[in-house]
Amino acid sequence: MTRDTTENLLQIIEARREELVELARALIRFPTINPPGEAYQPCAEFIGRRLSDRGFAVNYVRAAGTPGDTERYPRINVIARREGSVAGPCVHFNSHIDVVQSGAGWTLDPFAAVPGDGKIYGRGACDMKGGLAASIIAVEALIDSGAQLPGTLEISGTVDEESGGYGGVHYLAQRGWFSAPRVDHVIIPEPLNVDRVCIGHRGVWWAEVETHGRMAHGSMPFLGDCAVRHMNAFIDRLERELYPKLAARRTDMPVVPSGARHSTMNINSIHGGQAETSGFPAPCVPDSCRLVIDRRLLIEENMDCVKDEVRALLEQLVAERAGFAYELRDIFEVQPTMADRDGPVARSTAAAIQRVLGRAAEFVCSPGTYDQKHIDRIGKLRDCIAYGPGILDLAHQPDEYVLIDDMVNSAKVMALSAHTLLVGSA
Ligand SMILES: [Zn+2]
Repeated sequence: MTRDTTENLLQIIEARREELVELARALIRFPTINPPGEAYQPCAEFIGRRLSDRGFAVNYVRAAGTPGDTERYPRINVIARREGSVAGPCVHFNSHIDVVQSGAGWTLDPFAAVPGDGKIYGRGACDMKGGLAASIIAVEALIDSGAQLPGTLEISGTVDEESGGYGGVHYLAQRGWFSAPRVDHVIIPEPLNVDRVCIGHRGVWWAEVETHGRMAHGSMPFLGDCAVRHMNAFIDRLERELYPKLAARRTDMPVVPSGARHSTMNINSIHGGQAETSGFPAPCVPDSCRLVIDRRLLIEENMDCVKDEVRALLEQLVAERAGFAYELRDIFEVQPTMADRDGPVARSTAAAIQRVLGRAAEFVCSPGTYDQKHIDRIGKLRDCIAYGPGILDLAHQPDEYVLIDDMVNSAKVMALSAHTLLVGSA
């Protein structure tokens, strides 16, 4: 890229600071709360109209029949594509338009998109409408710069990321929207901080363990068999045998925060015994106890081994503890994924961060998952990263905000990175 092209792009984006702010605010005002999937259609159409006016071919894809899809809450995705005058690669920016419930603790209206102190406040400001707005301004600036752009620019606004992506990227990836030769490079503007390139995420295994017992009167527990005590024996095995092993495992993935560079497991919930009626506990020996675990795995770990490790502890108890009987049920799983940090999109984005911010990019991985899993596993597209404005820790919190400077800088980074990927020189 010549010095003139770079300077021109940076100037165009700087001049559009107010436009970027207004675009982000307009997006935040759509209360695209998931669940249930509120206002997806008007938000998708707003994005589609804007890009259609800029010469993009716009497709709306409804993920019919996916979880939550109804006439009241249709799962509408928007994909906008602009082919250049000459053939070349396709650079795709993918943002989810759904946000989580606003929840308690807000001091401001979560959907008023209130500006102040160089920030915009609102549910989704950080995760991730600030990033979506930055990517739209970046792409528009590229088009308006007059630079010769071979290849294709694509922007999508997809739904249901917060609930696993089944009506969004998962659905589209299964239908070829995220595969070569249609798409070559993907940037997901999730809020991983303006100077970080996120190359992947850990995996997930959610499962439910149920221990069985036998009901009896609480005054004569010796006539029954307490499922909660059996579960306690299992938790004790977790504490003594599994947790120390997990803490000792360390990944080469650059996960942030560093506590997540180990294997981890949360116990999400435990339910045992009869339900209380009118606030009074039942006088019974529990015949069932259920525990939900959330195991996060490293790229060095194998999903089957992760499951076997838990099953082995349960089998030990079957062998050693009188009356111990259990069931282990899978709820949900995601394989870990990590792109090559020397791949085209990671390299060009890191170079753009250096150019715009004057400091070296940090390569990171996310402790939790995002839609990269579907692009990698289903779309078979490896050249995918997450890069966008916003502080990850603020996502899903009350008084969530995005810094306007971060949005402007990330738009510059996205424009320079996409230009390099299209034109083919760093
Ligand atoms: Zn997100």
